[in-house]
Amino acid sequence: MFGRRPFLEALASTPILSSLGLAAPAAAAVKRDVFKELGVRTFINAAGTYTALTASTMPPEVIAAMQTCWPQYVNLNELQTKVGERLAQLLKCEAAMVTSGAAGALSVGTAGCITGTNRDAIRSLPDLTGLKSEVIMQKSHRFGYDHAVRATGVKIVEIETEAELEAAANPKTAMMLFFNDAEPKGKIDGAGWVRLGKKLGIPSFVDAAADTPPVENLWKYTGMGYDLVAFSGGKGIRGPQSAGLLLGRKDLIEAARLNTSPNGSLTRGMKVNKEEMVGMLVAVERFLKLDHAAERREWDRRADVIRKAAMKVKSVNSEIVVPPIANNVPHLKLKWDPAVIKLTPQEAMKKLREGTPSIEACPMTDREWLAFGVWMMKPGDAEVVARRTVQVLKAAMA
Ligand SMILES: *Cc1c(COP(=O)(O)O)cnc(C)c1O
Repeated sequence: MFGRRPFLEALASTPILSSLGLAAPAAAAVKRDVFKELGVRTFINAAGTYTALTASTMPPEVIAAMQTCWPQYVNLNELQTKVGERLAQLLKCEAAMVTSGAAGALSVGTAGCITGTNRDAIRSLPDLTGLKSEVIMQKSHRFGYDHAVRATGVKIVEIETEAELEAAANPKTAMMLFFNDAEPKGKIDGAGWVRLGKKLGIPSFVDAAADTPPVENLWKYTGMGYDLVAFSGGKGIRGPQSAGLLLGRKDLIEAARLNTSPNGSLTRGMKVNKEEMVGMLVAVERFLKLDHAAERREWDRRADVIRKAAMKVKSVNSEIVVPPIANNVPHLKLKWDPAVIKLTPQEAMKKLREGTPSIEACPMTDREWLAFGVWMMKPGDAEVVARRTVQVLKAAMA
């Protein structure tokens, strides 16, 4: 969809670069293949939006917009304000900011809930003496990313029922965190979480990092009344990989901003520069205009191309799964009779990785199923994955 040609074209047509005489060296730099020089293999992404696999690539209009930022200076706080206002308008919420990923949004948002705009409190973090120091979560919602919340120094107070939540709430409670993907596992649902937050006067925060598509989720959770919402910028939205969105209440976004770059304090290290701010905005604009039904049809087609080819191999069975909340896109799963195809799914995954071209299957692959995520593939990739998968399976037949 966006190979090297559109990128170069975007680059060449960037007037600011040519006017500064930077176009030639920049274009020359693009011609270098630094991955190759370093011996780092690129691959077909048949996995999905996994950070360790660099998750997503940016569409050409996002790259082009970032490209216009590089050689120019702006006031970073002014840019964050303007980008935030535009994002808030587009996403129908009170306020917004660009963060360093969804994890960064969790940290800066929590810091904001603790300190408000109190400068002394901001300077004091992570020393929470005299400050709010607890975050309430449902026990079944605990997850790896709550470390981004705990990074501020707060302690997580686990509860299971509404009554337990009401009993746990106290003047030291900074915030109530909800992990959206875990909603079916908890006794309190999202609407209940928001209602209880309002009743108790505690900000409710939802981590919805991987929950686009559907696009409507970008305004659904603030619309429900969550005080803060975190999204990843570099997953389904395909903005800069190191960017994210924090959406919500104006006072809390202002407080979050005071806790992070360029304003100092604890989360100063979660820096976001002009390119990510502009890239994020343009990625959101693009995402809003996208024909999501057509995207979905294309993902279904890719899954089908691989499925149909693999099903022709003896004993292969398939399943197409669409996770209900996070990564709500088609994933293809294949299994086979190990007596016929003498290969475990993990071994097949390794063979695909080590083959040419290298293919990364989905880390959801387990002992029983070989899994593929098709949404981050480029045109033609599905056909290659289909062919290579058939080859790998057939080569292991008795
Ligand atoms: C991916 C993810 C994150 C982290 O997102 P980044 O944008 O990489 O910081 C946080 N929470 C959940 C639920 C995620 O899926």
